[in-house]
Amino acid sequence: MGLIVQKFGGSSVANAERVMNVADIVTSTYKEGNDVVVVVSAQGDTTDDLIAKAEEINPGASKREMDMLLTAGEQISASLLAMAIEKLGYPVVSLLGWQAGFLTSSAYSSARIKTLRPERIRKELDKKHIVVVTGFQGVNRYNDMTTLGRGGSDTSAVAIAAVMRADRCQIFTDVEGVYTADPRKVPGARKLDAITYDEMLELATLGAQVLNNRSVEMAKKYGVELEVISSLTRAKGTIVKEDCKMEKMLISGVAKDDKVARFSIIGVPDRPGLAFKIFSKLGAKNVNVDIILQSIGRNGTKDISFTVAKEHMQTTLDILTPYVEQLGATSLVYDDQVAKVSIVGAGMESHPGVAAQMFEALFESNINIRMISTSEIKISVLIDIADADRAVTAIHSKFFTPDVVGQ
Ligand code: ADP
Ligand code: ASP
Ligand code: MG
Repeated sequence: MGLIVQKFGGSSVANAERVMNVADIVTSTYKEGNDVVVVVSAQGDTTDDLIAKAEEINPGASKREMDMLLTAGEQISASLLAMAIEKLGYPVVSLLGWQAGFLTSSAYSSARIKTLRPERIRKELDKKHIVVVTGFQGVNRYNDMTTLGRGGSDTSAVAIAAVMRADRCQIFTDVEGVYTADPRKVPGARKLDAITYDEMLELATLGAQVLNNRSVEMAKKYGVELEVISSLTRAKGTIVKEDCKMEKMLISGVAKDDKVARFSIIGVPDRPGLAFKIFSKLGAKNVNVDIILQSIGRNGTKDISFTVAKEHMQTTLDILTPYVEQLGATSLVYDDQVAKVSIVGAGMESHPGVAAQMFEALFESNINIRMISTSEIKISVLIDIADADRAVTAIHSKFFTPDVVGQ
């Protein structure tokens, strides 16, 4: 008996049958004597469909109106799930983000949760209601609807679990847990019993969509243990927590991110301060720069290359195109036909040669590396987008054979 937060993603509530299946999971947990708070995403591809509808009318719609539109998706699934639970004969109430107490910043489309005041949720739980909350949304100080960014329902669930000190936070999805690579793309991918917050955070940031990276960051900060589990098979999932010694793995996963673009500023004068100027201009417009590569100086100039998220490509172009001349550089070139493929694993810190193994896999597949970046627990390479899936498979089979995990 305790307080359990259960989050269901879009595919878990995609149609009437799936909604009834979720109602069954939720009410079974309630029947065991638990208080249950449920967080839902919009049904299936609803969010994408709503974005397409907006684009038909006004591709330049304001972010405020986009948030007003997109929050409707979660309202539909929350009310439908509540109706399904009512049908099974259990007391239930559905709440929008603001009713559940989500106060956010005003950054429409990527708002941050400032505070969560769960008084209403508590009141409803005291009345023995199952509480269904719309994920992905909140309200800012002007009482306007905001969204937390794509995949943000995971963060809504973790926030509730953290603030209400839930005994369990279960993230139900359409795969059986966190795998060593996307199980839909890499046939040999295997399910992990457990993974650390740090490794999961890297995997999520580097493209493993199964958990939103901000939710993992928050789970780590507040010590919320997560269980990633399938709403369809209900088989034992993956636990995300601080420390997991059960599996000593060299590498915990391979991830791909094809939503990146590479920029190069050619012929930058080889003087101190120019990198500072370039990157602070980008930083001022909230453009996050990832891999950075600077060539050695020759003839008094150097080239600076870096990657940004594709969604920031236009902003980067707008900032740098007029600036190149001012810098005294020769030209600006960019390429959005690239992808970042990464390996993540706490074990690599103490094992030399991991990078060599990764590069060997790419070499054997005749895949050219354009940029490399490393940290204690990850190695990323930038390659042509056309090679990305092949690269993930080749790297994955270098580190994971059907019977042997890592080394
Ligand atoms: P939800 O709608 O439940 O939030 P998402 O589509 O956001 O689900 O995330 C689940 C998907 O993440 C899976 O269907 C899978 O294809 C993808 N995925 C990518 N990398 C991984 C990984 N390493 N482990 C598990 N799933 C992954
Ligand atoms: N419905 C939102 C999205 O598609 C939020 C979520 O699924 O977590 O991004
Ligand atoms: Mg998701």
